[in-house]
Amino acid sequence: MNWSGSQRCDPARMLAPRTRQEVAAAVVEGPAPVRVAGAGHSFSGGAATAGTLLSLDALDRVLDVSGELVRVEAGIRLHALSRELLLRGLAMPNLGDIDVQSLAGALSTGTHGTGARLPILSAQVESVELVLADGSERAIGGGEELAAARVSLGALGVIVAVTLRCVPAFRLHGVDAPQPLEEILDGLGERADAHDHFEFWTFPHSDVALTRINDRTDAPPSRPGRVRAYASDVLMDNHALYAVSRAARAFPRAIPALNRFASSAASRRERVDWSHAVFASPRLVRFEEMEYSVPRERAAEAVRAVKAILERHPVSFPIELRFVRGDDVLLSPASGRDSAYLAIHLFEGMPYEAPFREVEALLSSAFEGRPHWGKRSFLSADELAPRYAGWDAFQRVRAQLDPHGRFANAWTRHVLG
Ligand SMILES: Cc1cc2nc3c(=O)[nH]c(=O)nc-3n(C[C@H](O)[C@H](O)[C@H](O)COP(=O)(O)OP(=O)(O)OC[C@H]3O[C@@H](n4cnc5c(N)ncnc54)[C@H](O)[C@@H]3O)c2cc1C
Repeated sequence: MNWSGSQRCDPARMLAPRTRQEVAAAVVEGPAPVRVAGAGHSFSGGAATAGTLLSLDALDRVLDVSGELVRVEAGIRLHALSRELLLRGLAMPNLGDIDVQSLAGALSTGTHGTGARLPILSAQVESVELVLADGSERAIGGGEELAAARVSLGALGVIVAVTLRCVPAFRLHGVDAPQPLEEILDGLGERADAHDHFEFWTFPHSDVALTRINDRTDAPPSRPGRVRAYASDVLMDNHALYAVSRAARAFPRAIPALNRFASSAASRRERVDWSHAVFASPRLVRFEEMEYSVPRERAAEAVRAVKAILERHPVSFPIELRFVRGDDVLLSPASGRDSAYLAIHLFEGMPYEAPFREVEALLSSAFEGRPHWGKRSFLSADELAPRYAGWDAFQRVRAQLDPHGRFANAWTRHVLG
């Protein structure tokens, strides 16, 4: 079962190989489809299989460090990777807002953070080591194959290691502050460009944007008391969000008032810490999520339009907006364009399909939207193909590396054909 509880499967075989040889044996022996479960934090059905399900949790070592190039096994969790990197004076240039994912899981779905000058995590991958359908190993270090393997949806083979281009370790000064939503939307592009990492959340029915700005700093980390106070505020946020969400689920008519109350309770807070500690926060409240990339210059318009849709549905969770630099990864939702990513969430147990479908239809038809591969979407390959200039190239690589569809599950057949 995945983190949100919306994806389940009953595999014929579940294995946790400890070596590449064991991975190869599991792939060859099957039964197909062979899929890997990372940390199960995708909302999409990527890991589900009735065949063989692998866990690469035991393949979690840093193999080699040469300058800023780090070769690491694919099963390592992002928080463990960040700790290992810091020991060597290095860091990931950017991260999303949690760090419990496996490295390969995060890369395979195009996981991203926020920062107008920073691309998705996969863009820092310099090479990918795969176990292919026949059990052979393949190291991919460039060309069309690398552009495909950087975001592969698990459709090319089992990723056993990757080489990442990292950066020197750095600290961030983080400031969270509520601001008037319209003011933020009016100056969105300038604000995104003015900071290393800028994002905001806004609740349906509220006119407040809860902004988060993280900028690089040479200042020393905040004193332990302040770090603890920040962490306890974040826990309080989780508990308050849970209480408000439960009330919203029980009394949907109260949602506009509850959402305005939740927005008004936000206060300004700040801290300085190592980058990975600032990027990631615990997420204790379960939800279902859809996230779309749109061209960044359309971001404000998209937020207004999506908010109007969500205000017609019982939605007690905020919209989140982030910025990502364009890249040349074939199946990256930010490929070929600087993008804004707009995420919508529904508290567990609340009906998500109607608002998700309406938002998906709007962002698809009017905003050149592309869905996040790790989140909810109802689109099929026919609808997705025209959105990606690199679609045919990806399919060529897929046909070469997995000619008989050993890694094809119901989800990849639906989204890739
Ligand atoms: C609370 C929460 C917060 C999140 N925040 C963000 C965020 O800030 N930014 C963002 O972009 N996303 C975010 N996500 C989405 C998340 O980053 C992605 O869904 C990511 O794929 C999850 O990683 P995982 O290790 O759990 O992978 P899984 O969900 O287990 O797997 C994802 C896919 O990768 C494949 N896979 C895994 N390992 C391998 C391997 N070794 N070889 C081949 N294929 C493999 C799986 O088969 C599956 O198709 C969030 C999700 C949650 C639940």
